[in-house]
Parts: sequence; C-alpha cells; structure tokens
Amino acid sequence: MPASRLRDRRRPFVLTGLVTLLVGVTAAMLAGIGAISSSARWVSHTYEVLAKIESVRSALDSTESAARGFRLSGDERLQADYIGHRLLAPAQADALVALVSDNPAQERRARVLRELVRERLAQIERTVELQAAGRATEANRTMMTVGARTGDAIDAAADALEASEQGLLDDRRASSNRHAWWLAAIVLFGLVIALAMLAALLRMLGRETRRALALEAEARDALATLEAAAAQRELLAEQRRVLGAFASLLHSCQGVEEALDVAGNALAQLVPNGAGVCYAMRASQNLLELHPLFGTHGAEYDDVIRPDQCWGLRRGATHVYDPARPTALCEHLRGLDPAHACGACVPLTSQGNVLGLLHVSARHGRILSELERAAVESVAEHLALVLYSLGLRESLRVQSLRDPLTGLYNRRYLEESLPREIERCERRDRPLSVLMLDVDHFKRFNDEHGHGAGDALLTRIGQVLAAVTRGEDIACRYGGEEFTVVMPEASTEQACARAEQIREAVAGATVSYMRRELGPVSVSIGLSQLRAGMDSPETLMADADRALYSAKAEGRNRVVCHLPQARAVLSESQGA
Ligand code: GH3
Ligand code: MG
Ligand code: MG
Repeated sequence: MPASRLRDRRRPFVLTGLVTLLVGVTAAMLAGIGAISSSARWVSHTYEVLAKIESVRSALDSTESAARGFRLSGDERLQADYIGHRLLAPAQADALVALVSDNPAQERRARVLRELVRERLAQIERTVELQAAGRATEANRTMMTVGARTGDAIDAAADALEASEQGLLDDRRASSNRHAWWLAAIVLFGLVIALAMLAALLRMLGRETRRALALEAEARDALATLEAAAAQRELLAEQRRVLGAFASLLHSCQGVEEALDVAGNALAQLVPNGAGVCYAMRASQNLLELHPLFGTHGAEYDDVIRPDQCWGLRRGATHVYDPARPTALCEHLRGLDPAHACGACVPLTSQGNVLGLLHVSARHGRILSELERAAVESVAEHLALVLYSLGLRESLRVQSLRDPLTGLYNRRYLEESLPREIERCERRDRPLSVLMLDVDHFKRFNDEHGHGAGDALLTRIGQVLAAVTRGEDIACRYGGEEFTVVMPEASTEQACARAEQIREAVAGATVSYMRRELGPVSVSIGLSQLRAGMDSPETLMADADRALYSAKAEGRNRVVCHLPQARAVLSESQGA
C-alpha cells in the first residue's frame, strides 16, 4: 500500500487549520488582554483625575478656612497657616491640568478651573489684606459677593470636569466589558473549533494507525509467503539434484536389484524419515514380490501380494491413503500400523506393462506433501522405464542364449558357462561331467521323413533332455543333431547313470509328425570327467567328443566314458 493511500489527504489541511486557529485565538487573546489592560489603565487614570479634582477642592477649602479663621480671629498663627495652604491649591490645579493634558476638552476645563482657583485665591488674598488693614466689613462683603460667585463658578467647573471624567469612566468600563466579552467569546469559539479539529485529527490518526497495522500484517503475510516460496524453491532444487543423480545412476544399472537399491537411496533422500517398499511383478504376472527399499526392514509387509489387492494397480494411477479422509485402504496394507499405511501406492508401468508397485509413506502419521508425492512419482517413472529395459535386455539375453528349435541353451551359452562351472567345481573340489550326444543315423531319418520331421525329432529330444536333467545341469544344443549336457558336481558314476537314463528315454520316445508316429531313434553318448587342475573346457569337450566317436565306432546307441587312463563302455544295445 503506498504511503499516500495510508495517510489521509485531509490531514495537512486540518493540521494547518488547527495551527492557524490556535495562532488566531492566541493573537485575539493577546489583543483582548491588551485592550482590557488599556481600559483598566484608563479607568485608573480617571480615578486619579477625580482624586486630583477633589484635592484641588480640598486645598482651596483648607486655604479658605485658614483665611477665614485669620480674618475672624486675627490670630497670626492662623495667618501663617493660611500662608502655608495658599500655594497648595494652585499646585494641585497645575497637576490636574498636566494630568488631563491627553484630553483637550478636559484640559480646557482644567485650565478654566485653575484660573478660577487662582482668581479665588487672589480674592482670599484681598480679603486677608483688607482684614489686615482693618477693613473687615469690606472684606466680609467681598467674600459674600465676589467670593461666593467665584466659589460657585469653581464648583461648576469642578463638577463639569468630574461629570466629563465620570462619562469617560463609564465609556471605558463599557469598553473594557465589551473587550472581556469578546475575549471570552473568541476563546470559547476557538476552544470548541480546536477541540473539533483535534477530534478529527485523532480520528484520522486512528484510521491511519489501523491502516498501518493492516499494512504491516499484509507485509508480514507477504514475507511469510515469500519465505515459503523460497523454501519450496530450495526443496525443489534439492529434489532436482537428487532426481538427476538418481536418473544418471539408474540408467547405468546392470540388474533389477541394483536398480532397486539406487531407487531406495534416492527415495530416502526425497522423503526423509519415511519408508518405502517395491513389489516387483513376477514373470507369471499373477503375483508381486516384496523388495524393501528404505526406512523399513519389510517385516510388516506381506512377502507376496496379488495385483488386485492394490487400488493403485487396479486404477493404474497413484492411490493415496489418508486416514483423515474417507479413502479406501489397499488390502495389502491392512496388516500395517495405520501410521505406516498412510502413504502413496504408485504403480510401476511402462509401455502398457505393469512391472510393479512402489509404496512410500512419510511415517509418524504424516501425509506425503505434494512435492514429495511428485518426487516419488518421478522416481517410479524412471524406475519403471529402467525395469522395463532391464526386462527386455534379460529376455533378449535369454533369447540369444537359447536354441529356438529345442528351447535348450545354445552353444554360445555353453561356451560362456562351462569355464565358470569348471572354475566353481575346482574351487570347491567337486567333480564335473560332460556328455556329448549325437543322434544316430539322423541323415537317414531326414532323408526318409523329411527335414520337418527331423526338426520335430530334434525338438522331442530337447524335451527329453530338459525333463531328465537337473536344474543345475546345463543342457544345450551343440549344433545340428548334437547335444551337450554339463553336469556340475556329478561323479562319473552319477553322470554315466544319467547318460544311460537319457539314452533309454530317447530310445523309448517317438515323435508324431504329420499324423504319423515316427521313431524311435537312438543316440550315442560320450562322457568325459574333469581332472582337477588339468582340464580346460576345450580338453574336456575334446575328451567327450572322443568318447562319442568311440561310441559311434562301437556300434552306436551306447554310452562311452572317456577316462584319463582307460576307456569304458558302460552300456550298449543293439541299436540302429
Ligand atoms: P551318424 O550316426 O554317424 O551320426 O549318422 P548321421 O546321419 O547322423 O551323420 P551326419 O553327421 O552325416 O548327418 C547329420 C545330419 O543331420 C546332416 C544334416 O542334414 C542333418 N541336420 C543337421 N542339422 C539339422 C537340423 O537342424 N534339422 C534337420 N532336420 N536336420 C539337420
Ligand atoms: Mg552328427
Ligand atoms: Mg548323427
């Protein structure tokens, strides 16, 4: 939120108004106080003037009394008293003139009063002189006539002065009251407006504070979102790194176990503290076998499950089980602790083939996050692709090692595995026997019944060999109508017995071809035995070949054993 939006646009105006108002009210108050103070000064001046008029009157009266006392008594002490008083009234009159000099009308009146006072003093002086000259009657007459007139004039002048001053006093009082009233009105008005403005300002500040708090909360939220996004980005980067390393390792894996190990390591990093297993589909496609991957020893999982026990496999999509939500729990997870069962079942599919299933849980009752689930799905995708290509490779390898006509191993496989088996038996100090078989008069059989019939016969012999030999024996088609059986850990006696069993089984077998039963045929078998530390695969095969040659030479349909010192014909029959 921009600062302009945060701050009320009216705030500067209100602030300026408030300050202006306060300055105005203060100025008005100062002016009012000045006016009141001035009025008070003038009122005091008026009282001073009135007191001075009284002083003039009183000084004149004192002078007059002293003069009258001297005139009536002739006492010289009273004359001295008169002389002492007679200068007082003019001095007071002068002071009065000076006091009202600011008001021309009053000054004029004061001057008149001063003249009258002087005139009256002169009259008193005259009566005192007449008295002193013994002309008391004339003095009394003067006092009664002229003196009375002047006295009246003085009273009139003083009254006029007083009246005028009283008028001024009333005006000044009224002005002072008016000023006081205005001052009170201005202060009251200013106070009310200032309070209103202050309230508005406080309301604005309150609003701004609330907005600022909301803005702060918004900023905090935005920061938290930003931090969460950064953490998510970091997690994603880490996931990408782990997935990249995983993909690189996975595509270099040579076998299924290795690929599952690599996937387990990657998942352990992608789902820390979690656990996961892989169920790999058997070739029979009806069962899946358990392979613990990480975070579990697998004891609580079933060793083998059916595809229909998993919702993920049934739907062909990731199935998440969350106990907090009403989702179905897969049957293969029902035996698990609920805190471990909540997780994701991710099918491993490639090119439309179901290769297995990953079950990954975050453990401790936690649900996999979206990011973790996506990572598990990515691992499943890579793993499925690699399992598919490993499966293809295996089937190609098997195809390249098998003879297509008989289903037995081919010569290439024999050459690959014989040195390994020799080494293994020598290491464990165990015997090893090799049988070389050749169909007797096979050319004739071909000629009589056709090449197709010959092929059917070879297929039949392949079935006989597969049925008679043990799982650890290697039965292969050496080429044409020749077969080899490598029998690890079989002693000469056991090998001879097995060779005899083969010979009898072939002799007893017929082949049905084109609705005809053909055969039986016979085989000649040469047998050689490994001499510890002395035989190579080539010498062993050459010995067997030699024994076979002997069997042929001795009449066919028999087993000949090639021993280092002697050659033994173990059995023979009157075959072809
Ligand atoms: P012997 O008892 O001395 O072994 O006689 P034989 O006729 O079996 O000997 P020979 O090795 O001369 O003949 C082998 C024949 O097997 C020749 C060949 O036509 C035939 N043959 C080789 N491979 C096949 C095959 O894959 N299918 C068929 N039908 N015949 C084959
Ligand atoms: Mg042959
Ligand atoms: Mg032959």
